[in-house]
Amino acid sequence: MIEKEEELHCSLKHKIPILMVAFDTTLKRNERILCCQCMENLGSKAQLMSFKKFVVIIEENQKLKYESVENVIMIRIKRIEELNKIFFIKI
Ligand SMILES: [Zn+2]
Repeated sequence: MIEKEEELHCSLKHKIPILMVAFDTTLKRNERILCCQCMENLGSKAQLMSFKKFVVIIEENQKLKYESVENVIMIRIKRIEELNKIFFIKI
Protein backbone atom coordinates (compact mmCIF):
# COMPACT_ATOMS: atom_id res chain seq x y z
CA MET A 1 0.00 0.00 0.00
CA ILE A 2 1.29 3.45 -0.92
CA GLU A 3 0.80 6.11 1.70
CA LYS A 4 0.14 9.70 0.79
CA GLU A 5 3.07 11.96 1.53
CA GLU A 6 1.11 13.92 4.14
CA GLU A 7 0.26 10.67 5.97
CA LEU A 8 3.93 9.82 6.46
CA HIS A 9 5.67 10.99 9.58
CA CYS A 10 8.99 10.39 11.27
CA SER A 11 9.29 7.90 14.11
CA LEU A 12 9.12 10.67 16.72
CA LYS A 13 6.05 12.23 15.04
CA HIS A 14 7.43 15.76 14.97
CA LYS A 15 4.70 16.85 12.50
CA ILE A 16 7.15 18.77 10.37
CA PRO A 17 8.10 18.01 6.75
CA ILE A 18 10.12 14.90 6.00
CA LEU A 19 13.53 15.76 4.55
CA MET A 20 15.55 12.58 4.19
CA VAL A 21 15.29 8.80 4.00
CA ALA A 22 17.95 6.60 5.63
CA PHE A 23 18.98 3.34 3.98
CA ASP A 24 19.68 1.31 7.12
CA THR A 25 18.06 -2.11 7.39
CA THR A 26 18.68 -2.16 11.14
CA LEU A 27 16.19 0.70 11.52
CA LYS A 28 12.45 0.10 11.56
CA ARG A 29 10.48 1.35 8.55
CA ASN A 30 9.29 4.60 10.11
CA GLU A 31 12.68 5.19 11.74
CA ARG A 32 14.15 5.56 8.24
CA ILE A 33 12.00 8.63 7.61
CA LEU A 34 13.74 11.72 8.93
CA CYS A 35 12.65 15.28 9.58
CA CYS A 36 15.20 18.00 10.37
CA GLN A 37 14.88 17.36 14.12
CA CYS A 38 15.42 13.62 13.65
CA MET A 39 18.50 14.35 11.52
CA GLU A 40 20.05 16.35 14.36
CA ASN A 41 19.85 13.25 16.58
CA LEU A 42 20.65 10.65 13.94
CA GLY A 43 23.07 8.09 15.37
CA SER A 44 23.13 5.89 12.30
CA LYS A 45 25.78 6.34 9.62
CA ALA A 46 23.38 5.09 7.00
CA GLN A 47 23.39 6.40 3.46
CA LEU A 48 20.81 9.18 3.13
CA MET A 49 18.71 10.35 0.22
CA SER A 50 16.48 13.39 0.00
CA PHE A 51 12.83 12.49 0.48
CA LYS A 52 11.84 14.27 -2.75
CA LYS A 53 14.35 12.26 -4.80
CA PHE A 54 13.16 9.08 -3.06
CA VAL A 55 9.55 9.83 -4.03
CA VAL A 56 10.60 10.42 -7.67
CA ILE A 57 12.41 7.04 -7.76
CA ILE A 58 9.40 5.24 -6.24
CA GLU A 59 7.07 6.88 -8.78
CA GLU A 60 9.36 5.92 -11.68
CA ASN A 61 9.47 2.30 -10.45
CA GLN A 62 5.68 2.20 -10.17
CA LYS A 63 5.36 3.59 -13.70
CA LEU A 64 7.71 0.90 -15.05
CA LYS A 65 5.75 -1.85 -13.24
CA TYR A 66 2.49 -0.45 -14.61
CA GLU A 67 3.89 -0.40 -18.16
CA SER A 68 5.18 -3.95 -17.77
CA VAL A 69 1.76 -5.22 -16.63
CA GLU A 70 0.10 -3.25 -19.43
CA ASN A 71 2.40 -4.89 -22.01
CA VAL A 72 1.57 -8.39 -20.71
CA ILE A 73 -2.15 -7.60 -20.85
CA MET A 74 -1.88 -6.26 -24.42
CA ILE A 75 0.00 -9.40 -25.56
CA ARG A 76 -2.74 -11.59 -24.01
CA ILE A 77 -5.48 -9.52 -25.63
CA LYS A 78 -3.83 -9.88 -29.07
CA ARG A 79 -3.49 -13.64 -28.55
CA ILE A 80 -7.16 -13.91 -27.59
CA GLU A 81 -8.11 -11.88 -30.67
CA GLU A 82 -6.01 -14.20 -32.87
CA LEU A 83 -7.63 -17.28 -31.35
CA ASN A 84 -11.02 -15.68 -31.73
CA LYS A 85 -10.39 -15.12 -35.48
CA ILE A 86 -9.23 -18.71 -35.97
CA PHE A 87 -12.26 -19.99 -34.10
CA PHE A 88 -14.60 -17.70 -36.04
CA ILE A 89 -13.18 -18.77 -39.44
CA LYS A 90 -13.60 -22.48 -38.64
CA ILE A 91 -17.29 -21.99 -37.91
ZN1 LIG B 1 11.29 13.79 13.34
